[in-house]
Amino acid sequence: MEYRRLGKSGLKVSALSYGSWVTFSNQLQTGSALECMNYAYDQGVNFFDNAEAYADGKSEIIMGEALKKAGWPRDSFIVSSKVFFGSNPDRKPNQTGLSRKHVVEACHQALKRLQVDYLDLYFCHRPDPDTPIEETVFTMDSLIRQGKVLYWGTSEWSAQEIMEAYSTARQYGLIPPTMEQPQYNMLERERFEKEYARLYEGIGLGTTIWSPLASGFLTGKYLDGVPEGSRLSLKGYEWLKERHLHEKNRANGERVRRLIPIAEESGLSMAQLAIAWTLKNPNVSTVILGASRLTQLKENMKALEVSAMLTAEVMEKIEGALANKPE
Ligand code: NDP
Repeated sequence: MEYRRLGKSGLKVSALSYGSWVTFSNQLQTGSALECMNYAYDQGVNFFDNAEAYADGKSEIIMGEALKKAGWPRDSFIVSSKVFFGSNPDRKPNQTGLSRKHVVEACHQALKRLQVDYLDLYFCHRPDPDTPIEETVFTMDSLIRQGKVLYWGTSEWSAQEIMEAYSTARQYGLIPPTMEQPQYNMLERERFEKEYARLYEGIGLGTTIWSPLASGFLTGKYLDGVPEGSRLSLKGYEWLKERHLHEKNRANGERVRRLIPIAEESGLSMAQLAIAWTLKNPNVSTVILGASRLTQLKENMKALEVSAMLTAEVMEKIEGALANKPE
C-alpha cells in the first residue's frame, strides 16, 4: 500500500480506501461488509468512509458492528462520517443541514452508530445556504477541541465556499478545513482539475475522491443495458440510472468504448484502468473504492500495483480517448 498525506496535514491515508454508499445495508450486511473491510485492511487500507445519510444511518451501524468484530487497534484506522442530509427518515427541521444543533447531534449519533469515541474525519456533506459559515466553522472547531473529531472538511463545496470557510477560520483563529471529498473520475474532471487547482498548493487541501468508477459506468458493464442486481438496477436509485444512461450521457458511453482497447492492450480490466488513472493525479490523497462484493474489491485494489503501467504514452492515449480535458 502507498500512503499519502491528507493535504498539508500530518495524517497519512492509504491511497486506496473503502466506502459504504449504496452497498452497506442494501447489498452488504455485517458479515459480508466485515469480509470486505478485513480484506481491505489486510491490504493496507486504513480509511473507511461513511455518512449519516447512507441507508439512513444503517450503513454506519453495519460499519460499527464490523469494526467491533474486527477488533483492530483504534489508532490503526481512520473512520469518517458526514453531516448535512440527516439520518432520520422523516427529516424534520434541524435534523438536516449544518446548524450548530444538527452538526453536534449528528456527530454524537454517528459516534454511537460507529461505536467509536471520535471521528477521524468529519465532512460537511454539502454546503448549507441556510447557515452562516461562521456557525459551522465554530462548531467544527469546537468538536475538534472536545476531541470528538480530529479533522474536518467539506464535500462538493465550490472552491469559493471552501475559501470562505478557510478564511473564516483564519480570521477567528479557528481550525480550518483539511480536506474536501469531491467526485473525480475519467468522466468528471472539471471541478477537481480546474476549479480547485489553486487550493492544493494555496491552502494545502487534501482530497478523498468518490465514485472513481462513476458508479460502475466506467467498467463498461452498462454499455449494452443494465445487468440485473447492478447498482443502476436497484430500487430507489432510478435517478442514478437516469443520470448515467440518459441520451445526454451518450458521449460518455462512447468514451468508455474507446477506452476498452487501451485497457486490453495494457492487460488491465476497465475498473483497474479507471482507478489507476485517478491515482496518477498527485492532488488525490485517497481514492475511495466502492464494491458490492469481495471479488470487485480484489480486482479494484490491484489498480495500485498496476498504476505504473500507465506510462506517459498510455496516459496520452487515454487523454485522446476521453477528449474531455478541462481547458
Ligand atoms: P464507484 O464509482 O467505484 O462505484 C462502485 C460500484 O461500482 C460498486 O458498488 C459496484 O456496484 C460497481 N463496481 C465496483 N467495482 C466493480 C468491478 N470491478 N466490476 C464491475 N462493477 C464494479 O464508487 P462509489 O460510487 O461507490 O463511491 C465510492 C465511495 O465514495 C462511496 O462508498 C462513499 O463512501 C463515497 N461517496 C461519497 C459521496 C459524497 O457526496 N461525498 C457520493 C458518492 C460516494 P454494483 O456491483 O452494485 O453494480
